Amino acid sequence: MITPPTRISLGRLNTPLQLLERFDTGMDLPRIWVKRDDLTGSGLSGNKVRKLEFCIAEAIESGADTLIACGGIQSNQCRAVAIAGAELGLSVHLVLRGEENSHNTGNLLLDRICGATITYISADDYRSRIWPIMNAIADEYATRGRKAYPMGPGASNELGMWGYISACEELKRDFAEHQIDPRYVVLPTGTTGTQSGLILGSRLHKLNFNTLGIAVSGSVDSLKAKIEKDLIRWKDRFSPTTNVLGLYNEILGEYGGPGYGIAEPHIYELITRLATSTGIILDPVYTAKAFFGLLEERAKGRFSDAEDIVFIHTGGIFGLMAQSHLFSSSQIE
Ligand SMILES: *Cc1c(COP(=O)(O)O)cnc(C)c1O
Repeated sequence: MITPPTRISLGRLNTPLQLLERFDTGMDLPRIWVKRDDLTGSGLSGNKVRKLEFCIAEAIESGADTLIACGGIQSNQCRAVAIAGAELGLSVHLVLRGEENSHNTGNLLLDRICGATITYISADDYRSRIWPIMNAIADEYATRGRKAYPMGPGASNELGMWGYISACEELKRDFAEHQIDPRYVVLPTGTTGTQSGLILGSRLHKLNFNTLGIAVSGSVDSLKAKIEKDLIRWKDRFSPTTNVLGLYNEILGEYGGPGYGIAEPHIYELITRLATSTGIILDPVYTAKAFFGLLEERAKGRFSDAEDIVFIHTGGIFGLMAQSHLFSSSQIE
């Protein structure tokens, strides 16, 4: 086995793998298991925590006193970095796509109360020059004798991928404990590090599942290309002898809705129905779209060769709070 890079402990691991019960889908099989990565912590929760255990370890090893992160105005990644920085005594500088006068709610509220310095930029600047902007901020810290460590969107690089490579060790123990052998793992895919990590981790830890990503932003082609890039960069840095070409991955583009962060009424209805029957809280940006995709594909028979499938609950509850006004009274009756 390849030696994993240095890691710090941020998440409350291991998270439960829980059989979904009392949620009526009109069919019994395959059974749906939920990996509760929404429970990696309280404020510091969700899938980003696993990736940050490796990325922030590298930041600390490099002597950084400041973490730089970027994302949308309601970025879960940025909120996780803001909280982790506060927990570890590191300064945090966030580059958020959005307006300075944005409402104090959800993730942004947590960013602010955790004392993060925030630079607000336009969608155009975010798309075309996020790295030059972060590098300029890092240079500015350097001129003051400080050392900043910039992280790309979602911490989805070859280092952050280790979060979900190592989550596969956990899944392996979960599967043994419940005596199941799931053939599919379904998850939302945004910046791809979670899916890339699961693809590699399942091979390295000899698990039998294929991943099915539900795209929440970007085209399927660009996401697949990013996954291939993740795998090749990982190989180049950590394991030149591992063959990463042609590893199976699938991403579906039809469940992303009108756009990133925008959801249709059926998504809010699903959130309400799952919460009411199970107490599991999905979010409208990532997990509810992915769970909807899982249910649709299951109904269409995609998983008919499987007895058990796994849904990765990647978190996102604070993004739900930021969209509270979009729940109509009929949806929460
Ligand atoms: C970031 C995020 C994702 C997507 O994970 P990627 O590794 O960026 O593909 C899914 N769900 C939630 C709640 C997230 O915050």
